[in-house]
Amino acid sequence: MAIRDHSRRTFLKGAGCSLIAAGAAAGFGRSARAAGAGQSCAVPTRAAQQAITPQTALRMLEEGNARFVQGKMLNCDYLQQAKATANGQFPFAAVLGCIDSRASNELIFDQGIGDIFSARVAGNFVNDDILGSLEFACAVTGAKLVVVVGHTECGAIKGACDDVVMGNLTQTLANIKPAVAAVTGYEPNRSSKNAAFVQAVADKNVALTIAKIRQRSLILSGLADRGEIGLAGCMYDVHTGRAHFM
Ligand SMILES: [Zn+2]
Repeated sequence: MAIRDHSRRTFLKGAGCSLIAAGAAAGFGRSARAAGAGQSCAVPTRAAQQAITPQTALRMLEEGNARFVQGKMLNCDYLQQAKATANGQFPFAAVLGCIDSRASNELIFDQGIGDIFSARVAGNFVNDDILGSLEFACAVTGAKLVVVVGHTECGAIKGACDDVVMGNLTQTLANIKPAVAAVTGYEPNRSSKNAAFVQAVADKNVALTIAKIRQRSLILSGLADRGEIGLAGCMYDVHTGRAHFM
């Protein structure tokens, strides 16, 4: 809930011009499909990207996931998109997700080449390198939204719950441990065998990751405070294909 409230607040700050910009964003797609609010296979231009508000960017991801769930993906020509973006990219959002093979950011939000930045690490946490990447996405390249996407049945979350020790993975999982510690209760079974506990940790991990983005990136928190970008959390259900924005 905290994330939702937070993102709403962030979005509301930019509400003064959002309606106008949202209208302009209808020009995002150049095909007939753009007659609706949805995306098309046309790659974003700088003008189109800049006309998109954080709210519109969130809606585009919601609509993309709806297409995915309904089996109505855009079916774009990716090679054509590759050629169209070869000399410049203007993605509308940056998505931080897990490396899980079932949770590809582009697939679950039905996005093509040039549409979104995609950062992935086991457990969808941030460190200096991920934060730098997100700063590049928003402050340098103009993305309007950062979304942290956790997912159900996450092996990294389960590993952190079980205190798995293995090579470099030990340090990777250490980034998730604050979420494990922040979830109280679930005694006596605070392990991966307790599905409710695992999901509670996954939810908390998304919330803490967003908080960490704000705390550790003055660039991103400044953009968010000015309403120039949105920060949102999301939980992807590997059983249904649905992405639930928090
Ligand atoms: Zn995962």
